[in-house]
Amino acid sequence: MNTQLNPKTENFKRKYYNTVAIDDWNDWRWQLKRKQQSSEDFSRFLTLTNDEKEGLESSTTRLNVSVTPYYASLIDPENPQDPVRKTVIPTVKELEINEDTEYLDPLAEDSNSPVPGIVHRYPDRVLFITTDFCPVYCRYCTRSRIVGGKANFKINLNQWQIGINYIAQHSEIRDVLISGGDPLIYSDSQLHWLLENIRKIPHVEIIRIGTKIPFVLPQRITTELVEMIKEFHPVYMSLHVLHPNEITYESSYACSLLTNAGIPLGSQTVLLKGVNDTVSTIKTLMHNLLMIRVKPYYLLQCDPVFGTGHFRTSIDKGVDIIRGLRGHTSGYAVPHYIIDLPEGGGKVSIDPEYLNSHQGNAYEFTNYLGTTGYKYSDSG
Ligand SMILES: *Cc1c(COP(=O)(O)O)cnc(C)c1O
Ligand code: SF4
Repeated sequence: MNTQLNPKTENFKRKYYNTVAIDDWNDWRWQLKRKQQSSEDFSRFLTLTNDEKEGLESSTTRLNVSVTPYYASLIDPENPQDPVRKTVIPTVKELEINEDTEYLDPLAEDSNSPVPGIVHRYPDRVLFITTDFCPVYCRYCTRSRIVGGKANFKINLNQWQIGINYIAQHSEIRDVLISGGDPLIYSDSQLHWLLENIRKIPHVEIIRIGTKIPFVLPQRITTELVEMIKEFHPVYMSLHVLHPNEITYESSYACSLLTNAGIPLGSQTVLLKGVNDTVSTIKTLMHNLLMIRVKPYYLLQCDPVFGTGHFRTSIDKGVDIIRGLRGHTSGYAVPHYIIDLPEGGGKVSIDPEYLNSHQGNAYEFTNYLGTTGYKYSDSG
């Protein structure tokens, strides 16, 4: 077991959990039991603003609040603009709902759901909602209508079995994305049951797990867990990660256990105003991810879910960030910029325009430095 703490967390633990044994602190169940949820909880170690107090006191009706002590330790207590803080502590702003541009279910997942928890939008793959629980609730969550115990269907073994039967009956499904909520909150034996039953289906080629746990509850990633998962390869993981501050000794260690077990890791980052919407923040994040062997996969436009207007950036901003990466740094560090289209249109990727003109075979391009006039004669 890893017993080292990053300096911020070590300092935090010394201040607020000094009598707690390191083995307890490093136990994911201990972390879950001590999740912070209320204004009183957070006031112990943060100077809350009035906007946050009001948000905390009124937000629970829409989307639960939960922050693990570990994740709370990454927050700067005196800075309301702290990126981690902004994504997990509600403010009054999330009570502003724009009925004209926002949705309860922006991706119309409910209407693409043949059986409870399965979203079958694309021909060859499904998303499988296996839980409505997360150790930390992100204020911009696309599934805020479901997570925190709000699903309008029961999540249990019977629902899992129905989902597995659906996959087994649809031979076109070659890719199963286990999602939620955060599926890694289950015990090793529950996850073993799930993976084993999906892996038994002959036409399922790859299994993917979507999770934020390596960054919010890295203690959950244990040798036992990864040894179990690797029985069911090829298993990929899509890691939800937002900001370089999330890449600590602990989360890096968790990712090393995963990659050493042969699990390829990709990142999914939601672009959020005032949190990570600059070229330099995204570039640093992508570089730091590559250092821990996570391949940048998607940079996602924040879905238009109720109460998230204050997080949304313009599409131009997203394109500018990609323009600031492409050519300027390793191609490996450049994610795809994605909009998941409202009403179930699916994901589309948007790229900066490098083609200036095109007449017959003559193409003219602008390069990554903005220099125009590069010609290419299309003889293909
Ligand atoms: C995002 C998503 C997927 C996976 O999409 P990829 O582009 O293959 O990563 C699958 N199903 C649903 C419903 C999704 O929203
Ligand atoms: S981890 Fe994912 S599912 Fe859970 S609250 Fe955050 S965005 Fe939503």
